[in-house]
Amino acid sequence: MTHQRVGRIEIVAGVMFSGKSEELIRRVRRALIARRQVRVFKSHLDARYEGLHHVSSHTGVAIDAAPIDRAEEVLRLIGDPDTVDVVAVDEAQFLDGAIVEVATHLAERGVRVICAGTDTDFRGEPFGMMGHLMAIAEDVTKLQAICVRCGDLASRNQRLVNGEPAHWNMPVVLVGGSESYEARCRRCFQVPRQDTDQVALL
Ligand code: ADP
Ligand code: ZN
Repeated sequence: MTHQRVGRIEIVAGVMFSGKSEELIRRVRRALIARRQVRVFKSHLDARYEGLHHVSSHTGVAIDAAPIDRAEEVLRLIGDPDTVDVVAVDEAQFLDGAIVEVATHLAERGVRVICAGTDTDFRGEPFGMMGHLMAIAEDVTKLQAICVRCGDLASRNQRLVNGEPAHWNMPVVLVGGSESYEARCRRCFQVPRQDTDQVALL
């Protein structure tokens, strides 16, 4: 009887500082201990925060990773899926819609696919394809950070520009911006204000 590999999709979601990279690194390290063939990728867009060629957590732990711009590069860079056991992708929220097909294709070919990413943007809305990926995954781990205001669990990222909450109309992804982010709970999160139609919303 031939042993056919069963692939799967695992998602590690949550806000910034919730430990997604730590968790991704933990899963990759364990797969390497099991002598699995592992390939790690991360979205290029995150290069301004961290080194281009590795996934690193805010605690400083790091593993090597190949930077990608577009989801389909994962398929091109790994070649024959039969030669790979585990594919891990960090910062998956920055990738284009093809990440859904790429993850599905690999899982159908027997690969264990692990995608980590921020599932809500600075407005508290679904980020990129993360919601879709969570829906099609076999396993979803949703992590929370610690609210820097009150110490409760944090499920939101507050974008601050010059110390003030950013406005709703700002782009979701800022390249080279001077903004910073704070992990906050639902109560301490200040929903970004719309620049127009304020009265109509109240
Ligand atoms: P993510 O990938 O989700 O941004 P990381 O794995 O890079 O998270 O970092 C998680 C680590 O960040 C924690 O283990 C902790 O040491 C540190 N950290 C810094 N600020 C916070 C916070 N507000 N809440 C939780 N952890 C924090
Ligand atoms: Zn709070």
